[in-house]
Amino acid sequence: MPQPTVKRKRKNISVRSPFEQLLKSVRKTGRVKESVEGKINYIIQSVASELKVDVCSCYLMRPGDVLELYASVGLNEKAIHDTFLRIGEGLVGEIALKRKPQSFANVWEHASFVYKPETEEKKYHSLAGVPILYENVLLGVLSIQTKKTFVYPPETMNLLQVVAMAMAEILYESVKNNLEQKIVSGHQPKKIEATRLIPGIAMGTAYVHKREALNAVLASDSDKEVKRLETAIQSVEEEINQLLVKPAVSSEQSAILETYLMFIRDKGWVNKMIKAVQDGLTAEAAVQKVCREIVQRMELITDTYIKERIHDLQDLANRIVRRLQHGKPVVKTKKLPRNTILVAKSLGPAELLDYDTSRIKGIVLEEGSQTMHVVIIARSYNIPVISGIKNISTLVLNGDLLALDAFSGFLYLNPSDEVQDEFEVRLKAQKRLQARLTQLSGLPAVTKDGVEVSLNLNAGLQSDIMNARGASFDGIGLYRTELPFISSERLPDTVQQTDIYKRVMLEMKDKPVVFRTLDIGSDKVLPYFENQTEKNPAMGWRSIRITLDRRAILRGQLRSFIRACAGKSLHVMFPMITSVAEFLEAKKTFELELKREKELGHPLPIEVKIGTMIEVPSLLFQLEELVKVVDFVSIGTNDLSQFLFATDRSNSLIWERYDVLSPSFLKMMRYIRDVCYQAGVPCSVCGEMASHPLESMALVGLGYTKLSMNAGALGKVKAVVRSMNQSETEEFLLRHLSDQTASLRALLRSYAIDHEIFI
Ligand code: PEP
Ligand code: MG
Repeated sequence: MPQPTVKRKRKNISVRSPFEQLLKSVRKTGRVKESVEGKINYIIQSVASELKVDVCSCYLMRPGDVLELYASVGLNEKAIHDTFLRIGEGLVGEIALKRKPQSFANVWEHASFVYKPETEEKKYHSLAGVPILYENVLLGVLSIQTKKTFVYPPETMNLLQVVAMAMAEILYESVKNNLEQKIVSGHQPKKIEATRLIPGIAMGTAYVHKREALNAVLASDSDKEVKRLETAIQSVEEEINQLLVKPAVSSEQSAILETYLMFIRDKGWVNKMIKAVQDGLTAEAAVQKVCREIVQRMELITDTYIKERIHDLQDLANRIVRRLQHGKPVVKTKKLPRNTILVAKSLGPAELLDYDTSRIKGIVLEEGSQTMHVVIIARSYNIPVISGIKNISTLVLNGDLLALDAFSGFLYLNPSDEVQDEFEVRLKAQKRLQARLTQLSGLPAVTKDGVEVSLNLNAGLQSDIMNARGASFDGIGLYRTELPFISSERLPDTVQQTDIYKRVMLEMKDKPVVFRTLDIGSDKVLPYFENQTEKNPAMGWRSIRITLDRRAILRGQLRSFIRACAGKSLHVMFPMITSVAEFLEAKKTFELELKREKELGHPLPIEVKIGTMIEVPSLLFQLEELVKVVDFVSIGTNDLSQFLFATDRSNSLIWERYDVLSPSFLKMMRYIRDVCYQAGVPCSVCGEMASHPLESMALVGLGYTKLSMNAGALGKVKAVVRSMNQSETEEFLLRHLSDQTASLRALLRSYAIDHEIFI
C-alpha cells in the first residue's frame, strides 16, 4: 500500500541539501570530458546516491518506437542495452506514451506493470519516472525505484524533471548527429506527400528553422538568473510593443502580437518561470520547462483555436530564450539564401516575420492547418505552404534543394534533374502568366461574345482587402465576418463591429459588399464562445443555427451592418440556410433591427438587399419558393459539395474523390441558375469553385455572370473570361450534362485547349 508521503519524505529523502548537491553534480557533467554514455551514467549515479534510491535508470527511444534500457544503477547490468519496452508497455512505457511525470507507490499493484526478469527488479516496489523531452520530441525516460512502497513527493518529481532537461540537452546532440548522418549518407531524391495549405510552386534552398540549443540548463546563482529572466521578459515586451506601432502591421498581425503581450503580462506564467529558476534551472531552461508544461495541458484541449495558439506560445518562449542567449532582439534577416524554402517543425507568426519574407519562396511545416496564424500571415505574402510531413525538420538539412508543389501536395527533397527541369519550366510559366495577368488588370471581364462577368472578392481579413488593392474587383461578393471575430480576444461589441464594417466599406470605396452573418462552428471556433463537443461539427450547431439560438449576437451584428452602411447600400447574406422558413426567421430579425434603428432616429442605409447562401441541399427543393422571398442568392460550393457528395471537406482522404465538375454537380448548378434567372434574382458563386480557372470557365458556360473569389484568383479568372465564348461553351456543356462519366474535367480541359481558352 502507498504510505503517507509527508513523514516518509523526511525520513528517506531530506529535501533541501541533497537536491542542491545533486544539481551541483549534474551541472558538473557539462564540463566532464566523457562520452555521452559516460555523462548519462554519471548523472544517474548522482541521482541514485543523492536521492538515496535503490535504482536509477535511463531508457532511450530507438527506431520503431521502442525504449531501450540505456543505463542503470541498481538493475542487473546484463539487462542494459538488452531490455526493450514498447511505447505504452509497462509503467515506463506509459510515462513515455503520456509524456508526463508519474509516481507509483507499488508497481506490483498496478495493472499496467510489466515485469522484465532480466532486470531482476522483483524486489523493487515504488517507481517514479519523467519523460526526457527535447522540443517536445521524446528522447527517453528517466526513472527511479526503491524497495519500499513510497509515493515520491512533488519536490522529487520536479527535481527529476530538471535533471531530465539536462539529460535531453546532452542526448539531443548525439541523437541529432546520428539522425543527420543517416540522412546524409542516404541523400537520395525523395518525393514526399503533404497537405496543401496555400497553393503555389517554389524551388529553392532549405533553411531549417530550429530552436537554438541551450548554453546551459542548470545554474548556480538563482538570484542572478531571476534578474536575467526579468530583464529578458521586459525587453521582449518592449520589442513587441515596438512591432505593434509599426505602420506596416496589419490588424491580424497586431491581434497576434496582443496575444503575446497577454502571456507576457500574465503573472502566473512569469511566477512559474521564476519558481523554476529557484529550483535550479537557468532562465532559458525555466522558460522552456514552463512553456512545455502549458503546451502539454493545451494539447489535451480539443478546441482547434486553443491548439493553434500553442505555436504562438512556443514562438514567444523562443523569443525570450533568444533574448537571453544573445542579449539583443532577433535579427530580422537571418542571412537567408535568395530563394529560401523555410522548413520548420512548427513556426509562430512572429517568427516568420523575423525573417526577410521577400527571400522566402515556400514554407514546409510538420504541423499546420489553414487557420493557423502563421498560415494566415504567409497567405498575405503569397507564400505557398504545405504541412503534415512528419519529422521533416530533422529529415531536411540546411542547404538541401527542395521543390515544393503546393497545388498537388508534394515536396521533392533533392529532386532529380528531370524534376528540377520540370519545376524550372513551371516557374517560368508562372512568371510569364503573372506578367500577362498584370497587363489584364485594367481591362474589363467580358467574354469574346460580349457577356459581362462581375468578378468579386472573398474577404474577411484586412490582409485580403490589402492584397486586393489595385486589383479591379467589382466589389466583395462574400465578406466572412467570422474571421475578424476569430482573431479578436472576445466577442466584438456593436461599436467595434460597426468600426470593422465601416472600414471595409471605406477600403472598397463603397463598391457593393455582401456581409455574411457569423458562420462560426464546425472548424471555425471562437475561443471565447461556448464550444460544444460534437461528433459531426460540420453538420452540427453552427452558423445560422447558433445565431438564431443566440439571437442577441445576430441582432448586434445586424445592427452593426445597418450602422456601418448608413447612407449607403447594404447587402446582408445568411449562411447555412436549410429552408425558406429559416431564411424568413433570419430576415424577420433584420427587419426588427432596421425598425428599431429607424425609431431611434439613426441614419439608415439607402438600399437594403437581403439574400441567402445556398449551401444545404434541402434548399434546392424549395428553390421556386425561395426566389420569391430573397433579393439575391450566392452559392457556397464548398459546403454544398460537402453535403451533396457526403464528403467531409476537411478530410484529405476523400476530398478529391468527387468533383464539382461532375455531371451531377454541374447539372444542379445549371438548375439553380435557371430558376434564379427566370425569377430575375441575382445569383452568384462564392465557393472556391469560382477561384479556379477551369471551374470558372464551366460556371460562365452555365450562365453565371457573377463570381466571387480569393484575391489571388482575379487575374487567372479574368483571363479565362476574356478568352472564352460564353454561348459556345454553354452549348458544349449542355450537351454533356447527362454524360455517364465521373467527371467532365478532362473533357473541359481539352475543350479549353482546343478553343484557346486561357486556363
Ligand atoms: C462555402 O461553403 O462555399 C462558402 C463560401 O463558405 P465557407 O467556405 O466560409 O464555409
Ligand atoms: Mg460555407
